[in-house]
Amino acid sequence: MSTDCLFCRIVAGDIPATVVHETPTTVAFRDINPVAPTHVLVVPRSHYENAAALAAGEPGTAADLLTSARAVAEAEGIDGYRLVFNTGADAGQTVFHAHLHVIGGTTMGWPA
Ligand code: 5GP
Ligand code: ZN
Repeated sequence: MSTDCLFCRIVAGDIPATVVHETPTTVAFRDINPVAPTHVLVVPRSHYENAAALAAGEPGTAADLLTSARAVAEAEGIDGYRLVFNTGADAGQTVFHAHLHVIGGTTMGWPA
């Protein structure tokens, strides 16, 4: 737990968020600035800077993020969804606590 990390503070309950799913290793909450009808962030309870660091440090928890993402999509009742790990500033990562975006509820193009 890092007191200067936004998502650590959300996991700790110090900053409010709309939590939609929890497991012993993960917390899922709605993105504050959704880009689609469903936009949920699934984060590990442990602090890792990005997905690669999480996979190296807690591979089981990295897999748990995918399982949680599926549970979120099922609860949202969405047929198709996109899972995104932005990694690094060039990719648009702005919060340096690993998080998996679950985006769906609309028809999406690819890559944009
Ligand atoms: P990134 O750009 O790092 O992949 O994604 C960070 C996400 O966190 C963004 O989509 C942004 O809207 C979301 N976000 C930033 N601050 C907050 C907050 O305080 N609460 C919630 N629920 N989401 C946030
Ligand atoms: Zn953190």
